[in-house]
Amino acid sequence: ASIVAEAGATLQAVQKAADGAGLMFGVDLGARGSATIGGNVATNAGGIRVLRYGMYRAQVLGLEAVLADGSVLTSLKGLPKDNSGYDLGQLFIGAEGTLGVVTRAALRLHPKPASEVNAFCAVSSLDAAIALLGLLRQKLGPLLSAYEVNFAPLYDLIVASMAMPAPLPAGSPVYVLAEIQGSEPDRDSERFAEVLMQAVEDGVVDDVVVSQSPREVRALWNVREDANRVLFSIKGLISVDISIPLTRMGAFLREADAAIHTDDPGADIYVFGHLGDGNLHYQVRTVDPAAAYDIVYRGVAAAGGGVSAEHGIGFDKKKWLHLVRSDAEIATMRRLKAALDPRNILNRGRVFDLNPTAFCR
Ligand SMILES: Cc1cc2nc3c(=O)[nH]c(=O)nc-3n(C[C@H](O)[C@H](O)[C@H](O)COP(=O)(O)OP(=O)(O)OC[C@H]3O[C@@H](n4cnc5c(N)ncnc54)[C@H](O)[C@@H]3O)c2cc1C
Repeated sequence: ASIVAEAGATLQAVQKAADGAGLMFGVDLGARGSATIGGNVATNAGGIRVLRYGMYRAQVLGLEAVLADGSVLTSLKGLPKDNSGYDLGQLFIGAEGTLGVVTRAALRLHPKPASEVNAFCAVSSLDAAIALLGLLRQKLGPLLSAYEVNFAPLYDLIVASMAMPAPLPAGSPVYVLAEIQGSEPDRDSERFAEVLMQAVEDGVVDDVVVSQSPREVRALWNVREDANRVLFSIKGLISVDISIPLTRMGAFLREADAAIHTDDPGADIYVFGHLGDGNLHYQVRTVDPAAAYDIVYRGVAAAGGGVSAEHGIGFDKKKWLHLVRSDAEIATMRRLKAALDPRNILNRGRVFDLNPTAFCR
């Protein structure tokens, strides 16, 4: 099943339309009420269920886009398979509006899950969180639909600002929100609970609450989404959206933490993110933002990661792009841009700066 959405529709409008037809759209994220389909496609948005459904690229079955010269490329048949030449629509996904203006998108829809259960877990370390992820994947396979993480002291701040009672007391080093979506409500919940109990017995999880109703599912998600609310209220925070292989994440976090505190002993670091996708949102309040950016992005590059996991490069991160993309890759991006937008009229200056000679014709 698929839906054709106009670029200006909000993500939430698409979610509601899918729900009304007894189906589900696979992407969800905190900005659902304001983010548009055009913006989502242009940034290849990810969100909380990438683990199960993939990023935007995996949802797009076809696109309509307008090129800089006014030509309209329309491919909205919504075919799951179509290798009739280049898949031009893919060019515009994650291109941040630099190659064309997206006007419509044919989006993949999924069966609506009959069961949705989540659990909030306190664990003693990142290693324990990664071990729990491995266990849930191994025992539950595709039932696992989200795996989010929140490190101290961010969770402690969220709890301090909550009007509702916290699901678990503050004070643990790491909190995990895991979710399952399935088709057999009783059996799915039972399997989820069994694996979580096993994890408690094995000492992987220290404490856990499991949702008992759709209202509780939403309440646990609200705690996770409160991370953004709390962070937006802290002034002077720098925020990066990084991708790191799980095997190197622990070392990266230790080294970045030590280097930032050597530079500024008073710095505060707040980390949360989509651990199931190796994606962390890493925030620092520091008197030396330039040094913090440098430490984090060079650390990410050394760990084999990405300087933007899901938010894109825009203007702010373009000076770091060379750390994670080769000269040949950046040169190819420039050639694509020059070919499709020779007068550089679309979102000029985003992602990379252009060598002016690329446009001499
Ligand atoms: C609270 C919050 C939580 C978030 N959580 C997540 C998350 O979990 N995962 C995630 O991936 N992102 C997340 N985001 C970022 C979010 O995905 C993006 O902000 C959103 O997708 C951008 O959509 P927009 O309509 O706001 O686009 P804008 O911010 O207006 O634009 C984004 C870029 O896309 C370009 N663009 C916009 N429309 C088009 C179009 N029609 N054609 C071509 N280019 C276009 C713009 O020029 C710009 O370069 C979050 C944001 C907030 C505020």
